[in-house]
Amino acid sequence: MPQAVVAKCGCCIRQSPREIDRPWLTLMSLLMAVGGLSGCASLPYQFGSAGAYRSSTDLQTLTSQQIERGEPHQALDTVGWIFGIPNKIILWDWRVENHRIGSRTETAIADYLAKNELSSVKVRLNQYHPGDDWRRLAANKSVGAGWRYTLGTLSVLGETIIAGRVFGGDHYNPFTNTVHLYSDVPSVALHEAGHSKDFARRTWKGTYAAAYLLPFAPLYHEAKATNDALGYVLTEGDLETQREAYRILYPAYGTYVGSALGGGMGWGYVASVLGGHVLGRIQANELEQQAEDQAFQARLQRNSTTPAMTASTDNAADSQPPRWTAVDETRLAESAIEEP
Ligand SMILES: [Zn+2]
Repeated sequence: MPQAVVAKCGCCIRQSPREIDRPWLTLMSLLMAVGGLSGCASLPYQFGSAGAYRSSTDLQTLTSQQIERGEPHQALDTVGWIFGIPNKIILWDWRVENHRIGSRTETAIADYLAKNELSSVKVRLNQYHPGDDWRRLAANKSVGAGWRYTLGTLSVLGETIIAGRVFGGDHYNPFTNTVHLYSDVPSVALHEAGHSKDFARRTWKGTYAAAYLLPFAPLYHEAKATNDALGYVLTEGDLETQREAYRILYPAYGTYVGSALGGGMGWGYVASVLGGHVLGRIQANELEQQAEDQAFQARLQRNSTTPAMTASTDNAADSQPPRWTAVDETRLAESAIEEP
């Protein structure tokens, strides 16, 4: 997104949690749904394909190395870490804007871009490289020149002057088709990549980017990116990554709900973020519960088949008919429960 259109991250509601009884939580659920979140994390996940995108061949040529990393600079990155403290608190995760992006986050976004065939997207991991950003702005002819040399120029100017390397702000810039990351959180990286996939399919990319400036419009853009990130994680990620995605992306989306309410950092904003934390953790816990249920069922099934195999071996020795029907189901269930 252009700086004015930059999104730190966002999220959606997959389904209405059952335990919500507080009015402000209900209100937030409604706002999330109104923001386009009803289709959140719809499955099966739809991977993107290069044939469905409107991209620039000039930009593709410039994107020889898709992911680049800035050189570590202890003093600079420490200042950046300090500037990122408010966002660390808001999302309650010390990896947010820590300016030290690990291999897990890099692998996550690299896999996402490859599997969605987003080959002209650039990713800068804690990197300040405005010269290349200006070149990418000029080369990205998939965005109309009218938008690129007005709003697009302002966005890159903002990235040049208010350097994310210092001030943070994970975002996607549609005018340069570049993801800028300063947080070591895979789900944040996937959310920003989700923006790139959303824009890749658009014909009127500049207009779509400009629409972000309209009231409440960010809720739609952010929901699209978060829906895609969650759907991808639920399809491709492990349980911990999935739980993490809910815990991060829900409160992140809450920041947009709070901003849409127009309360600045007032009570509406705080309530929205806290509501996102609560809802995200409810979803994460439900995932964990589902995984435990599935593991229990698997153990139960395994135990119910093991005696049968033993029976088969015994029967082979004495040539007696198999004793499938002699299995005591009650005893099997009990043994499954006792298994650690
Ligand atoms: Zn976003």
